[in-house]
Amino acid sequence: MEIVESPLAMQGIAREIHGRGKTIAVVPTMGFLHEGHLSLVDRARNEADVVVLTLFVNPIQFGPNEDYAVYPRDRERDAALCEARGVDYLFAPTVDGMYAPDASVKINETSLSTHLCGAVRPGHFSGVCTVVAKLFNITLADVAVFGQKDAQQVAIVRRMVRDLNFPVRIVMAPIVREADGLAMSSRNTRLAPESREVALGLSAALSAAIEAYGRGERDAAAVKAIMADAMSARGLKVDYASAVDYSTMEDVDEIGPGTLLAVAAYCGPVRLIDNRLL
Ligand code: AMP
Repeated sequence: MEIVESPLAMQGIAREIHGRGKTIAVVPTMGFLHEGHLSLVDRARNEADVVVLTLFVNPIQFGPNEDYAVYPRDRERDAALCEARGVDYLFAPTVDGMYAPDASVKINETSLSTHLCGAVRPGHFSGVCTVVAKLFNITLADVAVFGQKDAQQVAIVRRMVRDLNFPVRIVMAPIVREADGLAMSSRNTRLAPESREVALGLSAALSAAIEAYGRGERDAAAVKAIMADAMSARGLKVDYASAVDYSTMEDVDEIGPGTLLAVAAYCGPVRLIDNRLL
């Protein structure tokens, strides 16, 4: 595995790979890798000849009061995990390497990103779209693999790819969970041991909603109340408990196939998200 820091060098390598007639699959991450990220690497391996994992904690997708400064980082550990999992190139740029001091172009998706996390994290998805577009241009990705863990992000990236004609195929891979149901997240490492039980409220809320759906419940308001109550009961501070149409991210009145059940909540200072797609 080769570690590449310079965007220009990465672009040169990608050109050379394409020159040999090989395809490139990219897995964008913010690092502090876990099995969720590594499952995307496995998927990427099945989708193209060469796998590039990008490791970049992107400052412009964090709000002023969010956790950019305390986001967990361990480049050596990440590099070892990538190497062991068969990543070909680890692209790990610096902030200065990615953003000119006077950078003044951003990408704004203006519809899907007005809902869910976009509604409570202003500017977040603009930062995501901008960095993902840059990563696509730097790695010359043929395929990019994202996790359903961030389902709204995948929908927005797909919209960006469609609307701006990026020659990149977007693949969405399933959520990887701990044995107890907690969706894996780099942010889980910030949970105090006694908060671990509380954090289970997100997956428990979604399970309760799915169970109600199984019993025939279709009323979105009732399902949202079930999710919000389940999270509050565990001691989570609910950010949202939503039922939206996955193709538009707009609230639905009745849940059914194509509905995304999505939850976000604070477990102490740590904001966690989870979702289930019906
Ligand atoms: P992050 O490093 O949190 O920005 O995540 C990088 C990529 O890994 C995104 O496409 C996430 O959706 C994906 N990812 C994060 N956690 C999981 C998980 N538990 N299961 C599957 N994919 C995940």
